[in-house]
Amino acid sequence: MSGIVAARTLTQAGHHVEVFEKSQGVGGRMSTRETTFGNFDHGAQYFTVRDARFKKALDEVAGTAQVHKAWSANAVRVLDPLGRVIEAPLPHRESHFVGSPGMNALVRHWAQPLQSANQLHTSTLITQIVRDANHQKKWQVIADIDLKLKQTSFDHVILAMPHVQTAQLLRQSGSNAVGFSGLALLDRVTVAPCWTLMLAYPNASQPGLSHLGPQWNAARSTHHRIAWLSRESSKPNRKSIERWTVQASAQWSTEHLEDDEMRVRAKLIKAFAELTGIRAEPAYAQAHRWRYAKTLQPLGQNFLWDEKLSIGTCGDWHIGHRVEDAFISGLSLALHLS
Ligand SMILES: Cc1cc2nc3c(=O)[nH]c(=O)nc-3n(C[C@H](O)[C@H](O)[C@H](O)COP(=O)(O)OP(=O)(O)OC[C@H]3O[C@@H](n4cnc5c(N)ncnc54)[C@H](O)[C@@H]3O)c2cc1C
Repeated sequence: MSGIVAARTLTQAGHHVEVFEKSQGVGGRMSTRETTFGNFDHGAQYFTVRDARFKKALDEVAGTAQVHKAWSANAVRVLDPLGRVIEAPLPHRESHFVGSPGMNALVRHWAQPLQSANQLHTSTLITQIVRDANHQKKWQVIADIDLKLKQTSFDHVILAMPHVQTAQLLRQSGSNAVGFSGLALLDRVTVAPCWTLMLAYPNASQPGLSHLGPQWNAARSTHHRIAWLSRESSKPNRKSIERWTVQASAQWSTEHLEDDEMRVRAKLIKAFAELTGIRAEPAYAQAHRWRYAKTLQPLGQNFLWDEKLSIGTCGDWHIGHRVEDAFISGLSLALHLS
């Protein structure tokens, strides 16, 4: 979100921008896992719209494309460790939104013009940023696979990635980049990991069966293993096959960070059954580890910009842990530069 927002804002201001993304597609932690049973939002579950600038950008999108929709997850309960509701949903809570047909749809939509202009380079992991030997004020970005990149140099570089990866990239780059004035500040930021479980129950969607387990679609939980669970199939414009996404608590995810996926999967399925009463065998079960999921301690400023080096950073961790924070961070940095 932060990188694409920065790129599109700079493009609108007349700059030429190239985006390098290590994954096959854009979206980052607003990601969608496609399976034969339907998709899972295994990163961000929903987003809120509190900032007027985010609202304006979304209203503009709604005028041309249907890539986000309201989701009634504001009927979120809080459960005790045995799955009993201990806090009912509050009336008149703020609206929750999801990408449509998957969480990554919004970022994909905003990235489309860059992709059409061949300025979006996916499956490209950047390993270093170094000074161009022929233009000492310009930067070259080095990828592990694409040697052609060495032929292009840039006036400015923006790093839009989790703070640990930002620090790693600066430290493993040329001696100039490591002089980035904000580098020491990154140590202040703390981020929690999140193990996420995805489950599909195609048999529950057969005629005569509405769905499995509880009647609610989303809940926070006080179970020591699970912090959040939601029925993916309740989201708008999704397949109706019964699917659940389950997020482990920050503490449990930290304690089990290096466990293997099968072991984590088994433990989370057990906790899921305790909470929901769903003991049927899932046709699909997969756990995904997010090493840098949720900011606990943000930096406290919208972005970093080193005027001397012409290197900047943006991302949710500058100001918070939400999609909206990533949007504001990317937008603020781009407006500062344009
Ligand atoms: C499990 C989970 C649940 C969440 N739930 C919510 C929620 O319900 N509501 C909410 O508002 N927010 C939620 N969030 C947070 C939300 O997803 C983030 O705030 C937001 O997506 C962050 O966007 P970003 O642009 O800052 O970073 P990211 O989305 O992390 O984007 C960084 C990008 O940089 C790429 N990258 C990294 N290193 C390199 C490299 N060396 N070279 C090239 N590319 C690289 C990555 O592949 C990624 O695409 C959740 C996050 C997780 C993980």
